[in-house]
Amino acid sequence: MYFDYTATTPMDEEIIDTYCMIQKKYFANTTSLHLLGQKSNNIYLQMIDEIKHVLNCNHDIVFTSNATEANNLAIMGCVENKKGTIITTKIEHPSVYEVFQHLENNGYDVKYLNVDSNGIIDLDELKSYLNNDVLLVSIMWVNNIIGSIQPIDKVIELIKPYKKIKLHVDCVQGITKIKPNFSFDDIDLFTFSAHKFYGPKGIGVLGYKKNFNLDKRLFGSNAQFGIKPGTFDLGLVVCCAKALKKYCNLLDKNFKYVKELRDLFVNNIKNSKVSFNSNDNCSPYIINISVLNTNGETIVHLLEAKDIYVSTGSSCSSKLKKPEKTIMAISDSYDKAISTIRISLSYLTTKDEVMKLVDEVNKL
Ligand code: PMP
Repeated sequence: MYFDYTATTPMDEEIIDTYCMIQKKYFANTTSLHLLGQKSNNIYLQMIDEIKHVLNCNHDIVFTSNATEANNLAIMGCVENKKGTIITTKIEHPSVYEVFQHLENNGYDVKYLNVDSNGIIDLDELKSYLNNDVLLVSIMWVNNIIGSIQPIDKVIELIKPYKKIKLHVDCVQGITKIKPNFSFDDIDLFTFSAHKFYGPKGIGVLGYKKNFNLDKRLFGSNAQFGIKPGTFDLGLVVCCAKALKKYCNLLDKNFKYVKELRDLFVNNIKNSKVSFNSNDNCSPYIINISVLNTNGETIVHLLEAKDIYVSTGSSCSSKLKKPEKTIMAISDSYDKAISTIRISLSYLTTKDEVMKLVDEVNKL
């Protein structure tokens, strides 16, 4: 029983078929001048249009290897060779947080926004840091550990008067799952990854506003605006666009079902050692709990013995055995932060699976 859909999802069968079809029929390099190259290039351009249509935005779209690379290219591309303040939160994914740490070590003035016990930033704190020296604000839409949803609409309003400030939103855990309360056209840069919505691994997306001179980190051809030069896999691009369209169309239906699953879990947990780190306002796809006096890794293995797969937190830091950063930020409790597990749901999860998980968690 797989409850780790936040880490990654299985590929949709239909999307796998699309991948095979593209590999067989349109394998040419999109930069080749012959007819097959041109046909491949036309498909690539159509996919960009499809993504922009689905997100209702007018950004330039660059395909990367994953969201980690997209986040790195977005942030570094905004601040390189410039001086000033950059702002993020204490609960970002490492692919944002570590870039900020690197920049801090290299002389940038970095502000890390606090979050409250619900994992939400304080807009007044953000406001207090805004001035004409700020280069970039990077705030995730949905947190990957507890599922808290940031008020991106309000962040946009706060930043609007400062024409120089760029806003980057890591959309990885929001896209296809949560209805945005903002327009993508109001954010300067956004990033996401196809493997989180039943697309293939190996492809991420960086969208950035047209006419914005994003600095290059990689050098080569001028493919993909020179931001991510080199030959890319058209199959991955098509699958990314198709999966995005398919699962954006299913957003409401899947949200409703997953919310029912979440409520079923929450309402049936009777173990007094369990405390919830996610609340009703979080993404229903993510349930984070701490189990008193039990190490998160131990819980993962106890459940694994029952064929149940959960996670201790971000898959990228789960082997590091550190207190979970987001749980520390919301609770300031070391005990909670080392005894946490993340259960993540999907439209593929059944009620029966949830009840089996409930039974095992109640026994812990
Ligand atoms: N940002 C968030 C919020 C994530 O959850 C993840 C995936 N764990 C990433 C970025 C990085 O995505 P990828 O694995 O595609 O590099």
